[in-house]
Amino acid sequence: MIVWVRLPTLKVHFYHREVLTSLGNLIGRTIKLDYHTINQQRRKFARLAVEIDMTKHLVPRIFLDDHWQKVEYENLLTVCFECGKVGHSSGGCSTVHPATTGDQLANVGGPVPAKQATVEEATPAGFGPWMLVSKKAGDFLGIR
Ligand SMILES: [Zn+2]
Repeated sequence: MIVWVRLPTLKVHFYHREVLTSLGNLIGRTIKLDYHTINQQRRKFARLAVEIDMTKHLVPRIFLDDHWQKVEYENLLTVCFECGKVGHSSGGCSTVHPATTGDQLANVGGPVPAKQATVEEATPAGFGPWMLVSKKAGDFLGIR
């Protein structure tokens, strides 16, 4: 399943093809980058098409440099915020205790800080409705 994802408020120095591709590969498998992202004409968020494995949970955020970078998904209708997977809602979830918060650590743009090892246990489970964005509600016109 290929979805468009956004990386809101991504710092400008990450706006490089190689960096964005590697970030997309943490979310799934990068298919292509938004043309406008490459040209830095729209800096509200980076946008890329990613193929995701529906048997796995979505990645809600990526630890990047020294902060959590949110990951937003465009036009996904049914997402479970208990286990983070696509295709059923939270009410129909059969996952009793999600084993992971879904967070991903990214090692791009510099050495990995030592504190990364403790971040995951210090933060609550990261799935939520904020992960979902509608193209209609956004300010992005997209590729036509
Ligand atoms: Zn679920």
